[in-house]
Amino acid sequence: MNASDITLKQMQQMVHEWITTVGVRYFSPLTNMAILAEETGEVARIMARRHGDQSWKHGENPDLADELADMLWVLTAIANQEGIDLNEAFMNNIRKKSIRDKERHISNPKLTDNSTQTS
Ligand SMILES: [Mg+2]
Repeated sequence: MNASDITLKQMQQMVHEWITTVGVRYFSPLTNMAILAEETGEVARIMARRHGDQSWKHGENPDLADELADMLWVLTAIANQEGIDLNEAFMNNIRKKSIRDKERHISNPKLTDNSTQTS
């Protein structure tokens, strides 16, 4: 399988197979929620240094793609243990957003007026 071609369903299956073999079993949902927060913090750390005012410590070697993959991994584990089909959830979500926000963003002057941008 080409890694660039995996579906959300395949990703959920791959995470499940890894967790139930290499990982032995799923962590509890609360543990996975804490890990999701931890991984989100690792992404925030990189973004604060890449786009914000914070600087790197000597010798740090950040990998945003890997940290985003960590977030996706644990988010997928949570979906699996909560019985959520991420493909169905994503399609329902984008449908909801497309209806709810049909006029919202296009009529937001902050998105077209460059004088309000802070960066
Ligand atoms: Mg990480």
